[in-house]
Amino acid sequence: MTGNGKVLIIGAGGVGRVVAHKCAQNAGVFTEIRLASRTLTKCQEIQQELPRPIQVARVDADNVPELVALIKDFKPQLIINVALPYQDLTIMDACLKTGVDYLDTANYEPRDEAKFCYRWQWDYQKRFKKAGLMALLGCGFDPGVTNIFCAYAQKHHFDEIHTIDIIDCNAGDHGLPFATNFNPEINIREVTARGRYFDNGQWLETEPLSVHKTFDFPGNIGPKEIYLMYHEELESLAKNIKGVKRIRFWMTFSESYLTHLRVLENVGMTRIDPVNYQGQEIIPLQFLKAILPEPASLGPKTKGKTCIGCLIDGVKDGRKKRYYVYNICDHQEAYRETNSQAISYTTGVPAMIGSMLMLENEWHQPGVFNVEEFDPDPFMKKLSQHGLPWTETFRDIDNEKSASL
Ligand code: NDP
Repeated sequence: MTGNGKVLIIGAGGVGRVVAHKCAQNAGVFTEIRLASRTLTKCQEIQQELPRPIQVARVDADNVPELVALIKDFKPQLIINVALPYQDLTIMDACLKTGVDYLDTANYEPRDEAKFCYRWQWDYQKRFKKAGLMALLGCGFDPGVTNIFCAYAQKHHFDEIHTIDIIDCNAGDHGLPFATNFNPEINIREVTARGRYFDNGQWLETEPLSVHKTFDFPGNIGPKEIYLMYHEELESLAKNIKGVKRIRFWMTFSESYLTHLRVLENVGMTRIDPVNYQGQEIIPLQFLKAILPEPASLGPKTKGKTCIGCLIDGVKDGRKKRYYVYNICDHQEAYRETNSQAISYTTGVPAMIGSMLMLENEWHQPGVFNVEEFDPDPFMKKLSQHGLPWTETFRDIDNEKSASL
């Protein structure tokens, strides 16, 4: 390790809690931790749960001078941004001003438009390179581990990758009629957007959640309906997995979730434009977020498992082959370890691992990178060591006609 090993975690939500727990468990690498967020009491609550002392602070991460003052005071080697996607650029600006490396789990999204893409953050490439700093983008589970699964498949199992299907299943049940497992505003913006996937060099669009299939999940989860969606890792994988012809992303939803969502959309509660209510401007989706259960409150209630993985078809040694690599995470086990359910756990653990690889210089290069641009092997090894073991299956499909799903 060449730096001081100090990390500043920004965002004390569900994911921030897991990152704080996991960094605290690895004192040899994360020598000092400061957790900063908009609401100090949330940082203090997490501080109380941890096995070793950490510092806490209040910060408005939309405000660059405030961030700069906080960074200059603590002098971290790395900032782990697990606030919201809206804060990515201000935090990257503050990193440039103070000479600190950066990591996040979700790409930038402007508040007034439900649109996310890497362009805004890839545009920082030259500035990070020139400053000798590194920014690692999208180091959660999806994006994050799913990208690393693809890089690992490319490195070890295929001469050519033809199709990738990323399949995200939450088979957990919190017993409530409607709640989202991570920030409701970000979650609803994502699932109400038009579907989009990459096919033979083109991006094709579908109506929101209109394409669906049944997929039989491992680990006693069984068959579930999966829905085609756009997801941010498709953009970087289409660029970084050479020769790939098609990439799609699928997610499971229960009938009850979809029915509630349809009603909320139909009555206008998912709108992100301001409406005038009794002389005050409110954004319906932000109001909805305020009355929905906090994702963190679902932790003790959620039972069941998540299963997220990549189904990859391609050619190895002249034969067609299908490779499926996935992780299964148990909500209750995640909660026992970190006071958070599996959605936050599966995001926070990879953020800690990416940070560890950066601090240990195993993954370090000046510039802005997506995780699949680095050697996947040390990351895959650490996944199993730090709570997210993975399983892989292989099938020879040389004599099978059908496509991947
Ligand atoms: P939460 O809403 O639970 O937490 C977000 C935290 O950020 C809150 O504590 C919030 O403060 C804080 N925050 C928001 N705005 C500011 C600000 N301006 N200044 C300082 N702090 C701020 O979300 P999650 O923990 O569920 O998600 C965190 C991130 O992880 C999101 O970007 C999400 O998109 C990403 N994610 C990535 C996944 C992946 O697999 N790659 C999966 C799931 C999530 P307050 O408490 O005051 O509201």
